[in-house]
Amino acid sequence: SSFQSFLINPICKLLNKKELRQHIKEKKKTFEETTLKVWSESLFQHIEKLPEFIAADTVFLYHSMKGEVYTHTFINKWYKEKNIILPVVKEDNLELRFFEGEDSLYLSDYGILEPVGKKLDDFRQIQLSLIPGIAFDKKKNRLGRGKGYYDRTLPLLNSYNVGICFDFQLVEKIPTDPFDQKMDCLCTENGLIH
Ligand code: ADP
Ligand code: MG
Repeated sequence: SSFQSFLINPICKLLNKKELRQHIKEKKKTFEETTLKVWSESLFQHIEKLPEFIAADTVFLYHSMKGEVYTHTFINKWYKEKNIILPVVKEDNLELRFFEGEDSLYLSDYGILEPVGKKLDDFRQIQLSLIPGIAFDKKKNRLGRGKGYYDRTLPLLNSYNVGICFDFQLVEKIPTDPFDQKMDCLCTENGLIH
C-alpha cells in the first residue's frame, strides 16, 4: 500500500532535507535497476488512465537517468500523439524543449542526454507535468535534488502537476521552505494518490 515506506522507516520524520536525500539514496541501492524498470512500467499504466493525461496535448516530463523512474519507453510511445516537453538545465533555470525522437537528444559534455528539439516558448501550453522527486510526503510536498529547479519552474506553468516516484520514496513528512512547490497528485507503481 502507499506510504508503507514510512511505516517501515519512522525515522524519516526526524530528518532534515539533506539527511532525507541521503536516506532515500541508501534505500535505493537495495533495489536492482530491472526492478525499478518494472515498477516504472506499472507507474505509467496508472498515468495513462489519468483523465488529465488523456485530455492533455502537451505533457512536461524528463529524460530519466539511472535510479530514476524510467521514462524512455513512455516518451517514445507517446511523442507522436502528444507534445512531450523535456527540460535542459541552463544555469539556474530549466529550458524546455520538445522531444522529437531519439535523434533530438544530444550527449552533452556532462554525459547527459539533452533535448535539442524546438524550444517551448509558452510554458502555459503545458497541461500536465510529471515531476520527479527524491521523496514526496502525505501533503504532496516534494523533495528534489537540492537545486530548486522545479521550485522555480512550476510557478511559470499552468499545469496539473503529478509527482512521480517509487513507493519507497513516499515519506510521512518532508521539511518545507516557503518556496517549495506542492504537487496536485502523486503516482507510484501502486497507483495514484489524490
Ligand atoms: P529541491 O526543491 O531541489 O529539493 P530546495 O527546496 O532545497 O531544493 O531548494 C534549493 C534552493 O533553491 C534553495 O536554497 C533556494 O535558495 C532556491 N530556490 C528555490 N525556490 C526558489 C525561487 N522561487 N527563487 C529563487 N530561489 C529559489
Ligand atoms: Mg524544494
